[in-house]
Amino acid sequence: MTTRVWDYLAEYEAERRDILDAVETVFDSGQLVLGASVRGFEEEFAAYHGADHCVGVDNGTNALTLGLQALGIGPGDEVITVSNTAAPTVVAIDAAGATPVFVDVRAEDFLMDTDQVAAAVTDRTRCLLPVHLYGQCVDMAPLKELADRHGLAVLEDCAQAHGARRGGTLAGTTGDAAAFSFYPTKVLGAYGDGGAVLTSDAAVDRRLRQLRYYGMEERYYTLRTPAHNSRLDEVQAEILRRKLRRLDRYVEGRRAVARRYAEGLAGTSLELPRTTPGNEHVYYVYVVRHPRRDDIIERLRAYDIHLNISYPWPVHTMSGFAHLGYAEGSLPVTERLAGEIFSLPMYPSLPLDLQDKVVHALREVLETL
Ligand SMILES: *Cc1c(COP(=O)(O)O)cnc(C)c1O
Repeated sequence: MTTRVWDYLAEYEAERRDILDAVETVFDSGQLVLGASVRGFEEEFAAYHGADHCVGVDNGTNALTLGLQALGIGPGDEVITVSNTAAPTVVAIDAAGATPVFVDVRAEDFLMDTDQVAAAVTDRTRCLLPVHLYGQCVDMAPLKELADRHGLAVLEDCAQAHGARRGGTLAGTTGDAAAFSFYPTKVLGAYGDGGAVLTSDAAVDRRLRQLRYYGMEERYYTLRTPAHNSRLDEVQAEILRRKLRRLDRYVEGRRAVARRYAEGLAGTSLELPRTTPGNEHVYYVYVVRHPRRDDIIERLRAYDIHLNISYPWPVHTMSGFAHLGYAEGSLPVTERLAGEIFSLPMYPSLPLDLQDKVVHALREVLETL
């Protein structure tokens, strides 16, 4: 059997009755759009985080775009983020009409190098957009301090960090707003697309509700600013409510896989993920590093193991963002990583025998490299 980096079928098998009950609950409810399930999920997701508001939207990319717009970010504004991220982080900034500005990441944990942010601030900077990549949180304290000093907004990209903590603080609870994705592979994943924005600012919450609903202030009232249709689907919201109750268990499952990999691969030439002190990693992906990455991936195919790279092309090197003017070599750590990292299979229901198969195959490949 082919071993893939992600697979939901074992989890579905275990949770089938609950998932299908969620679908039936919505179909029986008489309200298929923005009903009790979206409202219920918004309340429960906000409560999980101790935040005042949550607005469900259709995906994580639009959670970022609407989050930026609700914070007043638009054309002419610069948003400081990283290039070592999923392309949608940057696509969302572009969609809001703003200009992405990149800083490099730290070689230790591949997260935003917060020491570089101050030098990237210009008189057009309006927002800092840290990405809690792979399941670990960026150090928010220096970013908050900088944002307060310059009057900048902070939007957290939490698409890979549901349930992650740093210094005991949950991802998504430090910035002015936080964007989440519930794409199926995520730590909290739907059975289709979904997203949400968290905020404890009532005005931001109100703007988000307009932005996801054509720009209307209330149902069928006239609108001042044409916006989007970005509603969270009612069925996905009900499934997410059920799965939110199990979020901490999913995270524990991911940590158990990570521990088994760390034990099995200790002493090899593979650089394993490092948890930065204070972080509680949720292992959205298990990213390892090796200078001969491409050879390793190629040889693992013989074992029927297919691995992913998150991400093989830094966003600033993509032709769609060439106009931003980042030459090759401008973000050296990001560029070096892109050629050396790859991700091992990671999901809470990953069977033990597949975990061991990956470890044994990797050990064999590394010994004969
Ligand atoms: C998945 C992801 C997104 C986009 O989420 P979608 O729901 O796929 O639109 C944005 N940022 C990061 C870091 C992601 O991993």
